[in-house]
Amino acid sequence: MSYQKPKGTNDILPGTSEKWQFVEETARLIFKDYQYQEIRTPIFEHYEVISRSVGDTTDIVSKEMYDFYDKGDRHVTLRPEGTAPIVRAFVENKLYGPEYTKPYKTYYMGPMFRYERPQAGRLRQFHQIGVEAFGSENPALDVEIMAMALDFFKQLGIQQIKLVINSLGDKETRATYRQALIDYLEPHMAELSEDSQRRLHENPLRVLDSKDKKDKVIVAEAPSILDYLNEPSKAHFEAVTDMLDLLEIPYEIDSNMVRGLDYYTHTIFEIMSEAPKMGAQSTICAGGRYNGLVEELGGSDTPGFGFGMGIERVLLTMEAEEVVIPALSELDAYVVGIGSETNVAALQLVQSIRNFGFSADRDYMNRKPKAQFKTADKLQAKLVLTIGENELNEGIVNVKSMATREEKAFPLSAIHDSFDEVYDEMMTKMIEE
Ligand code: ATP
Ligand code: MG
Repeated sequence: MSYQKPKGTNDILPGTSEKWQFVEETARLIFKDYQYQEIRTPIFEHYEVISRSVGDTTDIVSKEMYDFYDKGDRHVTLRPEGTAPIVRAFVENKLYGPEYTKPYKTYYMGPMFRYERPQAGRLRQFHQIGVEAFGSENPALDVEIMAMALDFFKQLGIQQIKLVINSLGDKETRATYRQALIDYLEPHMAELSEDSQRRLHENPLRVLDSKDKKDKVIVAEAPSILDYLNEPSKAHFEAVTDMLDLLEIPYEIDSNMVRGLDYYTHTIFEIMSEAPKMGAQSTICAGGRYNGLVEELGGSDTPGFGFGMGIERVLLTMEAEEVVIPALSELDAYVVGIGSETNVAALQLVQSIRNFGFSADRDYMNRKPKAQFKTADKLQAKLVLTIGENELNEGIVNVKSMATREEKAFPLSAIHDSFDEVYDEMMTKMIEE
């Protein structure tokens, strides 16, 4: 019997996990600069939290949910995305209260689950990093968040990307446009895919998001929502594009873009990779404004803006652009023990070095000195400490700087009591030369 991971999931192994850490750490640093703080929500939620906010007719809720009834007969689901749980937490924990600075800015990262057909950049367990800001209708916030996402990709070394935006307007705009869209689509009813036929009356905007080839041809000629924006919606969108221009942030407008979730209003955006090797899954970041969502989940009327991005797709983009990730941190010290009688002393040495805040490793496989030196090389140890029977009897250890090849014997007590000074001495020599 041999076991395999579930379809559409990944083991993230050393060699790759460093890349994940680089992406996650870069995100944390950027978000701190922009003053976003982390919220961690449960991996599963009550089904209604997702169905109410994401929308019953979306692919996510109608086809992709990992939902089940637990032993207490509660209908729960693994979370398919991050915004609905964050909004639920925002309302439940009263984060709109007077003690919190507004807008309330938060970020999350972690696994999401969707029952999809797995392919490159499309998994059943994937990982998102996302941000949300609650409490401001200011279009400058829309622009700040899009700029932050672009900033993040720049920090990662990703260059071949484009920002695509659209506006879905407010409720009134959506209602007028909905009718215009139905009027346009009805004569094409017979040519539409089964899904789109069903959605035509349920939720016609969803048809614009169809991935079906024939649907796409029909949709390309559909009326543009931008022609239906009412005055406030138009003003908001113009303010956004004006500020993007002012900040010299390039963007494209795609009036057919609707995004896969029902909760958006006004500005929506996607960041797409233009790297030739990226293939079909080129949307790496997506988001927008969701002014009705907090109310939908039982909170007061609170505007919001946010985005989510798939870590797997960000990593694919980095690969496609051949981004070089900063070198793995080297090892500060490797302790070579010669002969089994040095076993305890070698352990004491690595522990003392680690206690001073340095990284250290040693051999645990009784390997010959030659093999141990080879390991030290492979790990790019800066210092190699060698201890044999003679050194042990004399109470000393031999320290070698790998950069200068300089060697010096130190009393064992020097390592245990002041390794930081030993390290500085051996490393400074390197700088002087
Ligand atoms: P798509 O149109 O590619 O299915 P979506 O509209 O369903 O994307 P969102 O729900 O907006 O995507 O999620 C935001 C981001 O999360 C996407 O841009 C993508 O980077 C990532 N993402 C979504 N679904 C998956 C998945 N199944 N596997 C990997 N990443 C995903
Ligand atoms: Mg999808």
